[in-house]
Amino acid sequence: MTQTVDLLAIAAHRDDAELTCGGTLAKAVKAGHRVGIIDLTQGESGTRGDAATRAAEAERATRALGVHARLNAGLPDAHLHNDEPSRAKLIELIRAMRPRVVILPFPIGRHPDHRIASELGRDACYLAGLAKYGGAGAPHRPLKVLYALAYREDPVKPSFVVDISDAFDTKMAAIRCYASQFDGARAAGEIHPTGQDLYELIRVQSAHYGSLIRRPYGEPFFCQETLEVDDVLQLGVQSL
Ligand SMILES: [Zn+2]
Repeated sequence: MTQTVDLLAIAAHRDDAELTCGGTLAKAVKAGHRVGIIDLTQGESGTRGDAATRAAEAERATRALGVHARLNAGLPDAHLHNDEPSRAKLIELIRAMRPRVVILPFPIGRHPDHRIASELGRDACYLAGLAKYGGAGAPHRPLKVLYALAYREDPVKPSFVVDISDAFDTKMAAIRCYASQFDGARAAGEIHPTGQDLYELIRVQSAHYGSLIRRPYGEPFFCQETLEVDDVLQLGVQSL
């Protein structure tokens, strides 16, 4: 199966994965893992660009990141629902890609699609493992679900930050593929405007998350379960 991956990002809109975890995906590709993206919608309701333009941009961004597979669930943009048909469609794609780790949007967001994508993604990951759920594909349940925390202002401390310093240029190159969305923009998705150019805003935010682990650039994540450490002497990030 050429669509199977180790790491999978599920996002509401094309460009969401690049914005929130593009560096982590590119870094995983570089490390030799198979990486994939599922975009839940085709972006037909976006203010800027049309679905065809966004499809071409997503294809270029996919090549820039180097990810191995990118599927689109074809669910209705701006009208996402965590309902039976949507779960069935997503379960089919998860079973085809069989990821070990899945990155989802954070459950809080100003765009309703982001919040619903988070819940829909988590439910589909669980249900995909039920042998008697039905639908296409052999049952598969991912081991781990991570939430991309980038740009969130909620008082949630990241469970960890991925050092994306070596993948930052790749992340930005992928984001710049979405010219119809971002050229001249001052805000996007969960990124509130400060008057600065959007690309500079993304750089500044990435630098902030990097500073939390004393690195140039980072991407923050939250996970509900406690992380295991084998050897405390291997822990990084200076305390004092
Ligand atoms: Zn979005």
